[in-house]
Amino acid sequence: MGLVVQKYGGSSVADAEGIKRVAKRVIEAKKNGHQVVVVVSAMGDTTDELIDLAGQVSPVATGRELDMLLTAGERISMALLAMAITSLGHEAQSFTGSQAGVITDSVHNKARIIDVTPGRIQSSVDAGNIAIVAGFQGVSQSGKNITTLGRGGSDTTAVALAAALNAEVCEIYTDVDGVFSADPRVVRKARKIEWISFEDMLELASSGSKILLHRCVEYARRYNIPIHVRSSFSGLKGTWISKEPPGGQPMEQAIISGVAHDTSEAKITVVAVPDKPGEAAKIFRAIADAEINMDMVVQNFSTASTGLTDISFTLPKDEGRKAIDALEKRRAIIGFEALRYDERIAKISLVGAGMKTNPGVTATFCEALSNAGVNIELISTSEIRISVVTREEDVNEAVRAVHTAFGLDSDSDEAVVYGGTGR
Ligand code: ASP
Ligand code: MG
Repeated sequence: MGLVVQKYGGSSVADAEGIKRVAKRVIEAKKNGHQVVVVVSAMGDTTDELIDLAGQVSPVATGRELDMLLTAGERISMALLAMAITSLGHEAQSFTGSQAGVITDSVHNKARIIDVTPGRIQSSVDAGNIAIVAGFQGVSQSGKNITTLGRGGSDTTAVALAAALNAEVCEIYTDVDGVFSADPRVVRKARKIEWISFEDMLELASSGSKILLHRCVEYARRYNIPIHVRSSFSGLKGTWISKEPPGGQPMEQAIISGVAHDTSEAKITVVAVPDKPGEAAKIFRAIADAEINMDMVVQNFSTASTGLTDISFTLPKDEGRKAIDALEKRRAIIGFEALRYDERIAKISLVGAGMKTNPGVTATFCEALSNAGVNIELISTSEIRISVVTREEDVNEAVRAVHTAFGLDSDSDEAVVYGGTGR
């Protein structure tokens, strides 16, 4: 039996009871004959609390010292878990990200892993220990500074370690039973997905599904590390994310994997732009120079009489101000009439590799929204995804309508949310 990496999120280790429960589960894996490496997040809402605290002593708490502060959260969990395991009669050793060989670039608060040298972890498990690693952190290659990987980064730590240690699987333990066909907080009849391909999971993640970060799934796909997302509370089998269905089990990928939604974006409309070559280029150069990542882009036909057209795009809300400023600055060069900024939008996306070969998916999708009385403002598609922008207040209704229209509703109310404060 090989090595497994298990990752436990903040809600799974929220208090002493949680840590003891996790300790038992980790020991079970060890008793089953695996070498076990555990990655932990900070307890409960610790990271948010530390950020609040930093804000109280300094309005500009960022960079190196914020990283130093936040990594303390995961270090508390790792030491407590090691103690809990030891008290149950098993050997455990905890390691910081730096000690575990997680090497990153130098971008504080959002570092990328560039290498993992897990020699100490390997020796520790070879000596019979359960190794526990603080998630979400590393050390920069050039400056040897402590870095963090951005919010939710512990999953990426787990997958990166699994890749470096040649693990059989990376198990991600969370407060729901797996990946669902929609957010179970919105759709009570959301269905647990048994298996989903890396590709569909990547689309869901970039469309607003919060269960795993895009970066983590991307890493898993690159190194072909199967991920098993499951609950630390229920002990049920969760969702497998991998290239092929696991272990010869005859699982067919559904035509549609799920519906994701995202209310974190805003829409900017550049009104009355001259309809001639180079205009879109100027707009998007201004956005790119401000280092803003756009999402959907739509350009309308110009009315022949005016020779003017509107261009709309979506972007993260927290980049809205920056984008408006960047465009205003180049107003004379671009030559538009006005800018409209709208934060009250939502994006709803339907994802599934099966739509490539099944006609009528877009029609059904739009009919479902129409029957629910939801107006569509923008549409964009890829081979395996359709996304629309609607009013924000319509989002829950829209997600439920689409979920039902594609027969995704489960017969039972199986979607249970076990923990977390939703913070
Ligand atoms: N504790 C960090 C956060 O809350 C990292 C993580 O949980 O993955 O974002
Ligand atoms: Mg957390």
